[in-house]
Amino acid sequence: MSQAAAETPLKLKDRVILVTGASYGIGAHAALAYAREGATVILLGRTQDMLEAVYDRIESEGLPQAAVLPFDLGCNDEEKFIELADLIAAEFGRLDGALLNAGVLGQKAPIEGYNWAAWKQVMDINVNGQFLLAKSITPLLERSPHGASLVLTSSSVGREGRAFWGAYSVSKFAIEGMMQILAQELYDSRNIRVNTLNPGATRTSMRADAYPAENPEHLKTAADIMDIHVYLMSDESKHVNGQALDAQTVK
Ligand code: NAP
Repeated sequence: MSQAAAETPLKLKDRVILVTGASYGIGAHAALAYAREGATVILLGRTQDMLEAVYDRIESEGLPQAAVLPFDLGCNDEEKFIELADLIAAEFGRLDGALLNAGVLGQKAPIEGYNWAAWKQVMDINVNGQFLLAKSITPLLERSPHGASLVLTSSSVGREGRAFWGAYSVSKFAIEGMMQILAQELYDSRNIRVNTLNPGATRTSMRADAYPAENPEHLKTAADIMDIHVYLMSDESKHVNGQALDAQTVK
Protein backbone atom coordinates (compact mmCIF):
# COMPACT_ATOMS: atom_id res chain seq x y z
CA MET A 1 0.00 0.00 0.00
CA SER A 2 1.33 3.48 -0.84
CA GLN A 3 1.84 5.95 2.00
CA ALA A 4 -0.94 8.17 0.60
CA ALA A 5 -3.38 5.22 0.57
CA ALA A 6 -2.35 4.24 4.07
CA GLU A 7 -3.08 7.77 5.29
CA THR A 8 -6.50 8.15 3.59
CA PRO A 9 -9.06 8.00 6.37
CA LEU A 10 -11.53 5.14 6.06
CA LYS A 11 -15.00 6.44 5.22
CA LEU A 12 -16.94 3.84 7.22
CA LYS A 13 -14.60 3.14 10.12
CA ASP A 14 -16.40 1.43 13.01
CA ARG A 15 -19.79 1.60 11.27
CA VAL A 16 -22.14 -1.38 11.49
CA ILE A 17 -23.93 -1.96 8.19
CA LEU A 18 -26.56 -4.54 7.27
CA VAL A 19 -26.48 -5.71 3.63
CA THR A 20 -29.33 -7.84 2.29
CA GLY A 21 -28.70 -10.03 -0.72
CA ALA A 22 -25.06 -10.23 0.34
CA SER A 23 -24.52 -13.80 -0.87
CA TYR A 24 -23.76 -12.82 -4.49
CA GLY A 25 -24.34 -10.12 -7.08
CA ILE A 26 -24.32 -6.42 -6.18
CA GLY A 27 -24.88 -7.03 -2.46
CA ALA A 28 -21.75 -9.20 -2.08
CA HIS A 29 -19.65 -6.46 -3.70
CA ALA A 30 -21.26 -3.75 -1.57
CA ALA A 31 -20.49 -5.71 1.60
CA LEU A 32 -16.85 -6.02 0.55
CA ALA A 33 -16.66 -2.34 -0.42
CA TYR A 34 -18.08 -1.28 2.97
CA ALA A 35 -15.67 -3.58 4.83
CA ARG A 36 -12.75 -2.13 2.86
CA GLU A 37 -13.80 1.28 4.21
CA GLY A 38 -13.68 -0.02 7.77
CA ALA A 39 -17.27 -1.18 8.37
CA THR A 40 -18.41 -4.28 10.17
CA VAL A 41 -20.91 -5.82 7.77
CA ILE A 42 -23.82 -8.11 8.54
CA LEU A 43 -24.35 -10.39 5.56
CA LEU A 44 -27.99 -11.38 4.99
CA GLY A 45 -29.27 -13.80 2.36
CA ARG A 46 -30.72 -17.29 2.04
CA THR A 47 -27.69 -19.23 0.80
CA GLN A 48 -25.43 -19.87 3.77
CA ASP A 49 -22.38 -21.21 1.91
CA MET A 50 -22.32 -18.19 -0.40
CA LEU A 51 -22.63 -15.82 2.56
CA GLU A 52 -19.74 -17.69 4.17
CA ALA A 53 -17.66 -17.26 1.01
CA VAL A 54 -18.14 -13.48 1.29
CA TYR A 55 -17.32 -13.68 4.99
CA ASP A 56 -14.10 -15.59 4.15
CA ARG A 57 -13.12 -13.06 1.50
CA ILE A 58 -13.51 -10.23 4.02
CA GLU A 59 -11.46 -12.19 6.55
CA SER A 60 -8.76 -13.04 4.00
CA GLU A 61 -8.26 -9.31 3.33
CA GLY A 62 -7.80 -8.66 7.05
CA LEU A 63 -10.92 -6.44 7.22
CA PRO A 64 -13.26 -6.10 10.23
CA GLN A 65 -14.86 -9.44 10.98
CA ALA A 66 -18.27 -9.78 9.31
CA ALA A 67 -21.38 -11.60 10.55
CA VAL A 68 -23.41 -14.13 8.55
CA LEU A 69 -27.17 -13.93 8.92
CA PRO A 70 -29.11 -16.50 6.85
CA PHE A 71 -32.67 -15.24 6.44
CA ASP A 72 -35.53 -15.51 3.94
CA LEU A 73 -37.07 -12.08 3.36
CA GLY A 74 -40.06 -13.77 1.77
CA CYS A 75 -40.93 -15.74 4.91
CA ASN A 76 -44.11 -13.75 5.52
CA ASP A 77 -43.70 -13.92 9.30
CA GLU A 78 -43.32 -10.66 11.23
CA GLU A 79 -42.13 -12.48 14.36
CA LYS A 80 -39.05 -13.69 12.48
CA PHE A 81 -38.19 -10.11 11.52
CA ILE A 82 -38.55 -9.00 15.14
CA GLU A 83 -36.24 -11.86 16.21
CA LEU A 84 -33.76 -10.82 13.53
CA ALA A 85 -33.67 -7.25 14.81
CA ASP A 86 -33.32 -8.54 18.41
CA LEU A 87 -30.36 -10.66 17.32
CA ILE A 88 -28.62 -7.66 15.71
CA ALA A 89 -29.39 -5.56 18.81
CA ALA A 90 -27.89 -8.21 21.11
CA GLU A 91 -24.75 -8.61 19.00
CA PHE A 92 -24.09 -5.05 17.80
CA GLY A 93 -26.43 -2.73 19.71
CA ARG A 94 -27.17 -0.55 16.70
CA LEU A 95 -27.00 -0.13 12.93
CA ASP A 96 -25.31 2.82 11.21
CA GLY A 97 -26.59 1.80 7.82
CA ALA A 98 -28.61 -0.75 5.89
CA LEU A 99 -28.53 -1.55 2.18
CA LEU A 100 -31.79 -3.30 1.34
CA ASN A 101 -30.51 -4.78 -1.89
CA ALA A 102 -32.03 -8.30 -2.02
CA GLY A 103 -34.69 -8.85 -4.62
CA VAL A 104 -36.05 -11.26 -7.21
CA LEU A 105 -37.00 -10.75 -10.84
CA GLY A 106 -39.99 -13.09 -11.06
CA GLN A 107 -41.68 -13.74 -14.38
CA LYS A 108 -41.32 -11.60 -17.47
CA ALA A 109 -44.84 -11.74 -18.87
CA PRO A 110 -47.77 -9.47 -19.71
CA ILE A 111 -50.03 -8.67 -16.75
CA GLU A 112 -52.87 -10.61 -18.44
CA GLY A 113 -50.79 -13.80 -18.41
CA TYR A 114 -48.89 -13.22 -15.18
CA ASN A 115 -48.92 -16.23 -12.85
CA TRP A 116 -50.59 -15.40 -9.51
CA ALA A 117 -48.17 -17.48 -7.39
CA ALA A 118 -45.18 -15.83 -9.10
CA TRP A 119 -46.73 -12.39 -8.53
CA LYS A 120 -47.23 -13.07 -4.81
CA GLN A 121 -43.68 -14.38 -4.40
CA VAL A 122 -42.18 -11.22 -5.91
CA MET A 123 -44.38 -9.03 -3.71
CA ASP A 124 -43.49 -11.05 -0.60
CA ILE A 125 -39.75 -10.65 -1.14
CA ASN A 126 -39.48 -7.29 -2.92
CA VAL A 127 -42.17 -5.37 -1.01
CA ASN A 128 -43.47 -7.08 2.12
CA GLY A 129 -40.04 -8.29 3.23
CA GLN A 130 -38.59 -4.80 2.70
CA PHE A 131 -41.43 -3.27 4.73
CA LEU A 132 -41.04 -5.75 7.61
CA LEU A 133 -37.27 -5.34 7.66
CA ALA A 134 -37.35 -1.54 7.49
CA LYS A 135 -39.95 -1.52 10.27
CA SER A 136 -38.01 -3.87 12.55
CA ILE A 137 -34.59 -2.20 12.15
CA THR A 138 -35.72 1.43 12.49
CA PRO A 139 -35.03 1.49 16.27
CA LEU A 140 -31.53 0.09 15.60
CA LEU A 141 -30.82 2.74 12.98
CA GLU A 142 -32.02 5.43 15.37
CA ARG A 143 -29.30 4.38 17.83
CA SER A 144 -26.50 5.31 15.40
CA PRO A 145 -24.41 8.12 16.87
CA HIS A 146 -23.51 9.23 13.32
CA GLY A 147 -26.98 9.54 11.77
CA ALA A 148 -27.93 6.38 9.90
CA SER A 149 -28.40 5.73 6.20
CA LEU A 150 -31.13 3.45 4.87
CA VAL A 151 -30.73 2.67 1.16
CA LEU A 152 -33.52 0.88 -0.70
CA THR A 153 -32.69 -0.69 -4.05
CA SER A 154 -34.79 0.35 -6.99
CA SER A 155 -34.72 -0.07 -10.75
CA SER A 156 -35.41 2.04 -13.82
CA VAL A 157 -38.66 0.04 -14.21
CA GLY A 158 -39.64 1.27 -10.74
CA ARG A 159 -39.58 4.82 -12.06
CA GLU A 160 -41.23 4.26 -15.44
CA GLY A 161 -43.38 1.20 -16.16
CA ARG A 162 -42.22 -1.19 -18.89
CA ALA A 163 -44.28 -3.86 -20.65
CA PHE A 164 -43.70 -7.46 -19.48
CA TRP A 165 -41.86 -6.48 -16.28
CA GLY A 166 -45.01 -7.18 -14.23
CA ALA A 167 -44.59 -7.72 -10.50
CA TYR A 168 -40.92 -6.69 -10.48
CA SER A 169 -41.72 -3.28 -11.93
CA VAL A 170 -44.71 -2.79 -9.61
CA SER A 171 -42.61 -3.87 -6.60
CA LYS A 172 -39.93 -1.28 -7.38
CA PHE A 173 -42.59 1.46 -7.73
CA ALA A 174 -43.70 0.41 -4.23
CA ILE A 175 -40.10 0.75 -3.00
CA GLU A 176 -39.88 4.28 -4.41
CA GLY A 177 -43.11 5.15 -2.59
CA MET A 178 -41.93 3.58 0.66
CA MET A 179 -38.67 5.53 0.41
CA GLN A 180 -40.54 8.83 0.04
CA ILE A 181 -42.72 8.06 3.06
CA LEU A 182 -39.82 6.86 5.24
CA ALA A 183 -37.66 9.83 4.24
CA GLN A 184 -40.36 12.19 5.53
CA GLU A 185 -41.04 10.16 8.66
CA LEU A 186 -37.47 9.44 9.78
CA TYR A 187 -35.09 12.23 8.76
CA ASP A 188 -36.05 15.18 10.97
CA SER A 189 -37.30 13.23 13.96
CA ARG A 190 -34.96 10.19 14.03
CA ASN A 191 -31.83 11.34 12.11
CA ILE A 192 -32.16 8.51 9.57
CA ARG A 193 -31.79 9.43 5.92
CA VAL A 194 -33.59 7.26 3.37
CA ASN A 195 -32.90 7.11 -0.37
CA THR A 196 -33.32 4.75 -3.28
CA LEU A 197 -30.50 3.64 -5.54
CA ASN A 198 -31.02 2.22 -9.01
CA PRO A 199 -27.91 0.17 -9.87
CA GLY A 200 -28.63 0.35 -13.63
CA ALA A 201 -27.62 -2.46 -15.98
CA THR A 202 -25.07 -4.49 -14.01
CA ARG A 203 -23.43 -7.82 -14.80
CA THR A 204 -25.15 -10.22 -12.38
CA SER A 205 -27.23 -13.38 -12.55
CA MET A 206 -30.44 -11.35 -12.30
CA ARG A 207 -29.47 -9.24 -15.31
CA ALA A 208 -28.58 -12.40 -17.27
CA ASP A 209 -32.01 -13.86 -16.45
CA ALA A 210 -33.70 -10.65 -17.59
CA TYR A 211 -31.68 -10.29 -20.80
CA PRO A 212 -30.45 -13.78 -21.81
CA ALA A 213 -29.35 -12.66 -25.29
CA GLU A 214 -27.22 -9.77 -24.03
CA ASN A 215 -23.41 -9.88 -24.03
CA PRO A 216 -22.48 -9.40 -20.34
CA GLU A 217 -19.06 -8.11 -21.35
CA HIS A 218 -20.76 -4.86 -22.40
CA LEU A 219 -22.14 -4.24 -18.91
CA LYS A 220 -20.65 -2.57 -15.90
CA THR A 221 -19.69 -4.97 -13.14
CA ALA A 222 -20.94 -4.67 -9.58
CA ALA A 223 -17.43 -3.55 -8.60
CA ASP A 224 -17.77 -0.61 -11.03
CA ILE A 225 -20.74 0.88 -9.15
CA MET A 226 -19.37 0.81 -5.62
CA ASP A 227 -18.42 4.50 -5.26
CA ILE A 228 -22.04 5.61 -4.92
CA HIS A 229 -22.79 2.70 -2.58
CA VAL A 230 -20.00 3.86 -0.25
CA TYR A 231 -20.99 7.52 -0.66
CA LEU A 232 -24.56 6.80 0.46
CA MET A 233 -23.33 5.08 3.63
CA SER A 234 -20.68 7.69 4.46
CA ASP A 235 -20.89 11.10 6.10
CA GLU A 236 -20.51 12.64 2.63
CA SER A 237 -24.23 11.94 2.06
CA LYS A 238 -25.33 13.08 5.51
CA HIS A 239 -27.76 15.65 4.08
CA VAL A 240 -29.06 13.55 1.19
CA ASN A 241 -32.58 12.40 1.98
CA GLY A 242 -35.63 11.38 -0.04
CA GLN A 243 -33.66 11.14 -3.30
CA ALA A 244 -34.02 8.61 -6.13
CA LEU A 245 -30.42 8.11 -7.26
CA ASP A 246 -28.81 6.28 -10.17
CA ALA A 247 -25.53 4.40 -9.95
CA GLN A 248 -24.91 4.80 -13.69
CA THR A 249 -26.62 6.27 -16.68
CA VAL A 250 -27.17 2.95 -18.55
CA LYS A 251 -30.50 1.56 -17.34
P1 NAP B 1 -28.87 -11.18 -7.93
O1 NAP B 1 -27.53 -11.38 -8.52
O2 NAP B 1 -30.00 -12.04 -8.36
O3 NAP B 1 -28.73 -11.24 -6.34
C1 NAP B 1 -29.89 -11.14 -5.55
C2 NAP B 1 -29.51 -11.24 -4.09
O4 NAP B 1 -30.74 -11.21 -3.34
C3 NAP B 1 -28.80 -12.53 -3.74
O5 NAP B 1 -27.84 -12.32 -2.76
C4 NAP B 1 -29.94 -13.38 -3.17
O6 NAP B 1 -29.40 -14.31 -2.25
C5 NAP B 1 -30.79 -12.32 -2.46
N1 NAP B 1 -32.16 -12.75 -2.23
C6 NAP B 1 -33.08 -13.10 -3.18
N2 NAP B 1 -34.22 -13.50 -2.59
C7 NAP B 1 -34.03 -13.39 -1.24
C8 NAP B 1 -34.83 -13.67 -0.12
N3 NAP B 1 -36.08 -14.16 -0.23
N4 NAP B 1 -34.32 -13.45 1.12
C9 NAP B 1 -33.05 -12.98 1.26
N5 NAP B 1 -32.24 -12.71 0.23
C10 NAP B 1 -32.72 -12.90 -1.01
O7 NAP B 1 -29.37 -9.67 -8.17
P2 NAP B 1 -28.53 -8.34 -8.43
O8 NAP B 1 -28.48 -8.12 -9.88
O9 NAP B 1 -27.31 -8.32 -7.61
O10 NAP B 1 -29.58 -7.26 -7.89
C11 NAP B 1 -29.50 -6.67 -6.61
C12 NAP B 1 -30.57 -5.61 -6.51
O11 NAP B 1 -30.39 -4.65 -7.55
C13 NAP B 1 -31.99 -6.15 -6.69
O12 NAP B 1 -32.88 -5.48 -5.82
C14 NAP B 1 -32.33 -5.81 -8.13
O13 NAP B 1 -33.70 -5.67 -8.32
C15 NAP B 1 -31.59 -4.50 -8.29
N6 NAP B 1 -31.24 -4.16 -9.68
C16 NAP B 1 -30.32 -4.91 -10.37
C17 NAP B 1 -30.00 -4.54 -11.67
C18 NAP B 1 -28.98 -5.31 -12.48
O14 NAP B 1 -28.78 -5.00 -13.66
N7 NAP B 1 -28.31 -6.33 -11.93
C19 NAP B 1 -30.60 -3.42 -12.28
C20 NAP B 1 -31.53 -2.70 -11.55
C21 NAP B 1 -31.85 -3.08 -10.26
P3 NAP B 1 -30.00 -15.76 -1.90
O15 NAP B 1 -30.44 -16.39 -3.18
O16 NAP B 1 -28.84 -16.41 -1.22
O17 NAP B 1 -31.11 -15.47 -0.95
